[in-house]
Amino acid sequence: MILVQFCSSRILPSYNQWNFLLICSRHNDLPWNIRKFLKNQLREFRFDDLRDTQPWARSAWSHTDLRRLKEGMVAAQVSSIITAITRERLVRLFLPLFNIRIISLCLFRNSEHFISVSLFVYRIERAHKEGRLASLIGVEGGHAVGASLAVLRMLYELGARYLTLTHTCNTPWAECSTVDEPGQVARIGGLSNFGKSIILEMNRLGMMVDLSHVSVPTMLVAMRTSKAPVIFSHSSAHALCNSSRNVPDHALRRLAQINGIVMVSFYPHFISCGEKSTLEDVAAHIDHVRKIAGIDHVGIGAGYDGINLTPTGLEDVSKYPELFAELLARGWSEKDIQKLAGLNLIRVFKAVEEERSMPGGKFSGKLVNRIQAPMYEGRVVCLGRRVWNRGWCEDFGMIQGEQPGDKVPDTDKED
Ligand SMILES: [Zn+2]
Repeated sequence: MILVQFCSSRILPSYNQWNFLLICSRHNDLPWNIRKFLKNQLREFRFDDLRDTQPWARSAWSHTDLRRLKEGMVAAQVSSIITAITRERLVRLFLPLFNIRIISLCLFRNSEHFISVSLFVYRIERAHKEGRLASLIGVEGGHAVGASLAVLRMLYELGARYLTLTHTCNTPWAECSTVDEPGQVARIGGLSNFGKSIILEMNRLGMMVDLSHVSVPTMLVAMRTSKAPVIFSHSSAHALCNSSRNVPDHALRRLAQINGIVMVSFYPHFISCGEKSTLEDVAAHIDHVRKIAGIDHVGIGAGYDGINLTPTGLEDVSKYPELFAELLARGWSEKDIQKLAGLNLIRVFKAVEEERSMPGGKFSGKLVNRIQAPMYEGRVVCLGRRVWNRGWCEDFGMIQGEQPGDKVPDTDKED
């Protein structure tokens, strides 16, 4: 059982029965705000409580700090690394690198506040046991990789554990949700062959495929292509708000078949299709995803620090317990709440990591076989210095299993 010690009886009288709750808040754009507000000057930055600190206090985009994470009983926070949508390839690449650096620095400077980087799912569970808050990294926008599997691998090496295939415009190999809007024309019908290669390489690496922001054809092709469960990191139910950013019921049913998860966004434009929404509206979306896909396929996406409007009652990361109280009142059990709060995401993350080590190969067999869970469990993983050479791996206590001369897929080109 996964433990969370960040408990509070302030909101829920029965919370003392919930001591085994893990809240994984998916998709938080805090690094973007740190870069925007502080211009990367982190020396004086204190993350404890930003409610009285300018410019955070007056910004509609600021919803996260350590105190509120603790009040919200958050145990694992996934930070989104957004990339620039630009024709300039270098800009696309250096923004994710900047933001990963911001997260690393922020974690380092606040290590006394129980934050740790979690590169593998077992590290989240271990952080829990240590009473620390786990931090994960996702990259939002396939533009970050351009059309290079090598760059994708590098982002994984730097800690990225999911990639959102598109952002608000197409990549050369995947189409985004705006293609579904009236008057728009699809060019490649969702994913190109190279886009499929990206997904298979993510399977091989053990990286989650994120389908928020993509078009419906892209969702369907990606779900057919991926050998591991996929996620929607911040999308809601299309049946309740017909934004192209939301997931239609037929895709929810397909998602359940492949054991994936939709993590519901709190952005009012995706909840009520307007500028105002409420906690109850969010609960209705969560209920709908549960009704169509099942209790094992719903999670929390929120989107805090990346949205400038929030639902009434869910103004920041401290409010998650209020949402759980609403769902309890709607008849959800404590076990159901645990699944929504984090266990479903943990299950998907584990399945993605298992796929990475699956013998027999989902990619080419040999490639998938090279890294197996027992080889990295308990070892020091030295990121950024992993090399394609067994000797180096052994010398530096790195991930083992790489074979000198192993071939990598020859798919680093657009099609
Ligand atoms: Zn987004």
